[in-house]
Amino acid sequence: MPRRAFKVFVELEGMYRNLVEQLVLYAVNNGITKFTRLKAERYHEVRSLYPQLPSHYVYTACQDAAERAHSFLRLRRMGRARKPYPEVRGVSIWLDDHLWRAEGLTSISMTTHRGRVRVSVELNKHFLRYVNRGWRLASEAKVKLDRRDRRLVFYLTFKKEVSEYRPKGYITVDVNEDAEAVLIDGLVYLLETDLSRVTLGYYYRRKRVQERYDRVYGLGSRPERKIFKRLSNNEGALKKEIRWKLAALIAREAARRQAAIVLERLGKEPANHMIEHIKDPQLRHRVFQAAFKGMQRAIEEKAREYGVPVIYIDPRNTSRTCPIHGAEIIYGRDRHGTCSKGGETWHRDVVACYNLLLRALSGDGGHAPSRMRALVTVDGGPVPLGPTAAHEPAGVPRALWARWRSLGATSDHKLVRVST
Ligand SMILES: [Zn+2]
Repeated sequence: MPRRAFKVFVELEGMYRNLVEQLVLYAVNNGITKFTRLKAERYHEVRSLYPQLPSHYVYTACQDAAERAHSFLRLRRMGRARKPYPEVRGVSIWLDDHLWRAEGLTSISMTTHRGRVRVSVELNKHFLRYVNRGWRLASEAKVKLDRRDRRLVFYLTFKKEVSEYRPKGYITVDVNEDAEAVLIDGLVYLLETDLSRVTLGYYYRRKRVQERYDRVYGLGSRPERKIFKRLSNNEGALKKEIRWKLAALIAREAARRQAAIVLERLGKEPANHMIEHIKDPQLRHRVFQAAFKGMQRAIEEKAREYGVPVIYIDPRNTSRTCPIHGAEIIYGRDRHGTCSKGGETWHRDVVACYNLLLRALSGDGGHAPSRMRALVTVDGGPVPLGPTAAHEPAGVPRALWARWRSLGATSDHKLVRVST
């Protein structure tokens, strides 16, 4: 933006920040967490501070402050607040329908203390994706000042009227360190992500750089920090790309079949047995965040975009019991095990996927077909789940699935070629 126009927003932000600071202080002192009460008690006084400011900024500042006070008081109750009062550091100005208006797709007009200001906008891909899928802008928005590039960053909310989504089936996803097992139409795809390998790879590269540079330039030198920054940018970008691509693939398949996505409910701590072999707690945390949490979050976000519901299932013992016999599976090496009752061979990820599906089917009593359940309760060998081929996942390397638009469109010969 031109300097002069931007100055208006700098002034606006200053006033807004001051309002929020005062309101938060009052709210925390009086234990107020509700917008309505904060507004009722403080509106008139705060309003008179800046008579030139459109009154709706006082409303939104009250909302902003009430939310900040709410989360601060909750942290304090849990003993996790580090300061006696919440600090108002980053500010984004909250807007309601009186304060801004989208004018087509090219500009936004905002009400300020200096009248209406029209700002031309540059849309991003994300925005257009939502608009194309039939989402409409909601009336609430936030705007943040980017002082370095002298521009405004708008945070918009989309909404959509949806008819009730009655899942006709489930797609179950078992997230692992380096691959994701996805059960679609009775076939388990093992889509390789290599996420933990990426994390570990960069970790060791950083370590090598550190050792070399510390020796030459001393601890934490400038060139070392520069390389670190570049490495972590590359790492982040690569992981992000892997996650989004895979999440989009799964969400698209679910939407096409009108299926729900079934995920494991993950705990907060990286106590997952999958990464026990990593001793460094920080590194373990990073692997967990990237490979498990990050992957799940990407799927959730993509599912939302496509309007697909996500169901969470308790993952306890999902890979330990035979989906057919309910008996324990004894695992040997290389993720393969034998059912202690039927004697058939199972791949660990296939077991997990089927058990997640069974739990989903029995859990919500839902609208999904009971075909799977009927087949699985039939006793007597691996027949209900098909020939042994079904017990072996179709492994798909990242280079391959990253180019797919859908799983169904891939002919089976491709898969066979890969898995043999
Ligand atoms: Zn069995």
